[in-house]
Amino acid sequence: MAAMNLILALSVLLVVVLAATSWHFMRVARQLRESEERWKLALEGAGDGVWDWNVPADTVVFSARYKAMVGYTDEDIAAAAEAWRNRIHPDDRAQVDEDVRACLRGQVGTYSNEHRVLCKDGSIKWVLARGMVVSRTPDGQPLRMIGTHVDITGRKALEERMLHLANFDMLTGLPNRSLIGDRLQQAVFKARRDKTHLAVMFLDLDKFKPVNDNFGHEVGDLLLKQVAQRLMASVRASDTVARIGGDEFVVLLSSIEQQSDATVVAEKILQALQQPFAVLGHTVEISGSVGIAAYPEHGDDEKLLLINADIAMYHAKRAGRNAYRLYAAGM
Ligand code: GH3
Ligand code: MG
Repeated sequence: MAAMNLILALSVLLVVVLAATSWHFMRVARQLRESEERWKLALEGAGDGVWDWNVPADTVVFSARYKAMVGYTDEDIAAAAEAWRNRIHPDDRAQVDEDVRACLRGQVGTYSNEHRVLCKDGSIKWVLARGMVVSRTPDGQPLRMIGTHVDITGRKALEERMLHLANFDMLTGLPNRSLIGDRLQQAVFKARRDKTHLAVMFLDLDKFKPVNDNFGHEVGDLLLKQVAQRLMASVRASDTVARIGGDEFVVLLSSIEQQSDATVVAEKILQALQQPFAVLGHTVEISGSVGIAAYPEHGDDEKLLLINADIAMYHAKRAGRNAYRLYAAGM
């Protein structure tokens, strides 16, 4: 009888312990879920789209803001991670893949990548993606990765605009002094390595001030734009035309066989400028003076080449304008 009572008592105790344990686990699970919901909400509130990736199943759960960002609804967004990958711009896919894998392997603690995503309506958005692996098997295999997407399209557009302003002339859209300086330097490095030749042309329009004085500044501006177009049309696509100041342009002929290749282009440019321009109902005539310096004969670096092309241009001016001069020692 005593033994029966003991077994009964032990059974009751076991049931109570089991119930308490399972209740405890349920509570912990609920708390976890709740805290997860809370930080997901917090991230959403901060404007981030949240994704939650079940790595072994290769499925993803997206937050409402994420879906809104890429233009999907609950019904039409696929859970398969493959669809998620396909939304990454093809040019950015390899880098995203590499960065995600580094995080999955544990080589980096957090994943961070700026890339373009294809939205449902066909538009493209820039996002900053961040994430981390939040759960692994005991032997380190990733089970779950959670992260966010922030829309940085506006910032990217601003960056691009600023980069453009820093490198291009507002009036003509041509590269400016800073960008042509970089391109020249690169071209000289390449010519030095490949033992090839290049030429730098310095062009200053003749008597441009009177155009402003006679027709007004607006006509002067539009003339500069048309001059830019004619210069572009006179060179190859691999050459660079830049506007480095008021009526000063620089042309980089990145690959020439001999100096006469450059003088041929100079003649072509002078001819192109000789055709009268039609600007706001006025017929405007202009010419230019060109100085040429070739690498390596007239300078070993981009700065000396520019200086010597400028000196040669000055000699073309002095000789009566509408002319070109090849740099020569002693000028
Ligand atoms: P030169 O034959 O000796 O070159 O004489 P120039 O009249 O062309 O005078 P110069 O090259 O010394 O000066 C260029 C002038 O271009 C100075 C300025 O009045 C004018 N200019 C400079 N920037 C602009 C611009 O952005 N728009 C317009 N319309 N004119 C400009
Ligand atoms: Mg001038």
